[in-house]
Amino acid sequence: MQKELNRELMKTGYEFDASAPGCGRNCEMVHLNIGRNSEMKRIAASLLLLVLITGPVPGQSSQGLKVFISVDMEGITGVVNRDDTSRTGKDYDYFRRIMTLETNAAIEGALAAGATNIIVRDSHGSARNILPDLLDRNARLLRDWSGGPMSMMESIDESFDAVIFIGYHAKAGTPDALLEHTMTGNVTDISINGLSLPEAGVNALIAGLYEVPVAFAAGDKALCGQVKELLGTVETVAVKEGIGAAALNLHPEVSREKIREGVTRALRGLDSLKPYKLRAPYTMVLKLKDETTVYTGALFPGAERTGDWEITFRSDDLMEVILAFYNMR
Ligand SMILES: [Zn+2]
Repeated sequence: MQKELNRELMKTGYEFDASAPGCGRNCEMVHLNIGRNSEMKRIAASLLLLVLITGPVPGQSSQGLKVFISVDMEGITGVVNRDDTSRTGKDYDYFRRIMTLETNAAIEGALAAGATNIIVRDSHGSARNILPDLLDRNARLLRDWSGGPMSMMESIDESFDAVIFIGYHAKAGTPDALLEHTMTGNVTDISINGLSLPEAGVNALIAGLYEVPVAFAAGDKALCGQVKELLGTVETVAVKEGIGAAALNLHPEVSREKIREGVTRALRGLDSLKPYKLRAPYTMVLKLKDETTVYTGALFPGAERTGDWEITFRSDDLMEVILAFYNMR
């Protein structure tokens, strides 16, 4: 309810005056700067009534949108080779700077749409790529891996309003895609309920567990196609287009402009987005390259080997599926 209220307020252009003396959680609407327009007054009055009836949701920010940004590296502008994304690569330091600036563009776009609480999850390789002092100071940065199955979505919960993917890449086996893979080099495909998923799809399902929709994704053209196919009307920006293993890139500044504008547009249209969900029961079919991981994965409770390179896992609980995938991949 509070999420909807915040969005409605942003549409009207009114702002909370949280600094007003004596302002507490239950009196936010009293300090709205009500204009002369009678329609606006009517909307504000009905919102006031809504707050008085429902009260604030405990733990929910009354300040604005809370946004989760998961940032991978393969889909960053200019990145074409493992050398660009690995810590020992000669151009790695150059591209981690571009990665940070592309993240900043998303943060700026989110701020323009009314975000007041932004978490950036560094989601590539070591999860220690984004340059902390170059990152926009309005966001907090989650670095390194916890060891838990939430992985690229670590720290997402129901308090967030939207998820944004930056620098994402297409799933393993996608033609004309840059550095395409699915989580590890070992996975050739993951499908849930018959739907083959890229990392963006798995991560959208994790966000969906907490009722949070994906609003925006940036990466190469192939990634954008896969995200649209799975998530529908989500905003995307293709910062490059694969030509075999080569890439035709936008200028980094142009990418940033498009990401900034796209994120703002996506968050302003949040009402039309739904969390991504599949219906229980869940059947995950995982195809792997390394035989030892197929062997050990099939020993996971609820799993069975269903082919030379294939494990099938069934559960009514999607979190169990995510956990199984994390342990088998
Ligand atoms: Zn990556």
